[in-house]
Amino acid sequence: MSFEFFPPRTEEMEAALWSTVDRLAPLRPRFVSVTYGAGGTTRDRTHATVMRIERETGLRAAAHLTCVAATRAEVDAVARRYWDAGIRHIVALRGDPPGDAARYVPHPDGYAFASDLVAGLKRVADFEISVAAYPEVHPEAPDAAADLESLKRKLDAGATRAITQYFFDVEIYFRYLDRVRAAGIDVPVVPGILPVTNFAQLQRFSAMCGATVPGWMADLFEGLDEDPETRRLVAASIAAEQCRALQANGVDEFHFYTLNRAGLTYAIARILGLRPVAARTAG
Ligand SMILES: Cc1cc2nc3c(=O)[nH]c(=O)nc-3n(C[C@H](O)[C@H](O)[C@H](O)COP(=O)(O)OP(=O)(O)OC[C@H]3O[C@@H](n4cnc5c(N)ncnc54)[C@H](O)[C@@H]3O)c2cc1C
Repeated sequence: MSFEFFPPRTEEMEAALWSTVDRLAPLRPRFVSVTYGAGGTTRDRTHATVMRIERETGLRAAAHLTCVAATRAEVDAVARRYWDAGIRHIVALRGDPPGDAARYVPHPDGYAFASDLVAGLKRVADFEISVAAYPEVHPEAPDAAADLESLKRKLDAGATRAITQYFFDVEIYFRYLDRVRAAGIDVPVVPGILPVTNFAQLQRFSAMCGATVPGWMADLFEGLDEDPETRRLVAASIAAEQCRALQANGVDEFHFYTLNRAGLTYAIARILGLRPVAARTAG
């Protein structure tokens, strides 16, 4: 089990993040990770958040790092700073074009793709490296086979785990896993789980990142815009069913996009069998 957070922008968001971390930490995830804002805009906040998690919680923290809008030397310097501070795990990503730019263009002196970044990180130090995988194919990939080749390049360059983009239909994940294994890839391909409460926002975001939002989900959330409590119950039930179906078919690692909120992730982790390690017993 691993949990993903984003670096907070305001004091209020910061308080929310740390109470989420406190709540989830006793579940002893394998690691927690902190995202890297588009174009490196959160470089220092990501670093500060990763370091505080590592220092204060006893959890292993992984730092996301992207190629966008930075030279190889700049990216290497960020990585070296992590290594020197004791961070051993990087989630290596290409990143998306900054601002309104429609198309990704690599920095002339930068790493062009995530596979180049993985190779560069391995030259800096012997990091553990996780990379992204796309059960529904990355939107810019010409086809599924080319996208699988990209994943293979990242693993050949030294990554040892793939974490998937979120998806809702478990069949999509299992069909992808079959293709991945048929391509001779044998590393863990950990499903990325997004517990959803803001359905309107999800639809906007999913259109950009190529994830399908099934019609049955739209039906379940229909008419609940003004009813947050029912929305939460529906969201919990969807995510729990999804995770149980994955678990029933042999999946035993999950990566949660927590959106810095503990409630749903905590409940689903419990349903999957996790218990807080430091829990006190009554009496
Ligand atoms: C688990 C996870 C965490 C994420 N965290 C962050 C984050 O913290 N910050 C952030 O900004 N974004 C994050 N993202 C989003 C990610 O940056 C975008 O999805 C981005 O568009 C692709 O990144 P990638 O690492 O998969 O790129 P790549 O693996 O480089 O692939 C990008 C595209 O290029 C193609 N490609 C790859 N290699 C080549 C090649 N040699 N020649 C031609 N085409 C090629 C691929 O098929 C794909 O279409 C995350 C995504 C996931 C799934």
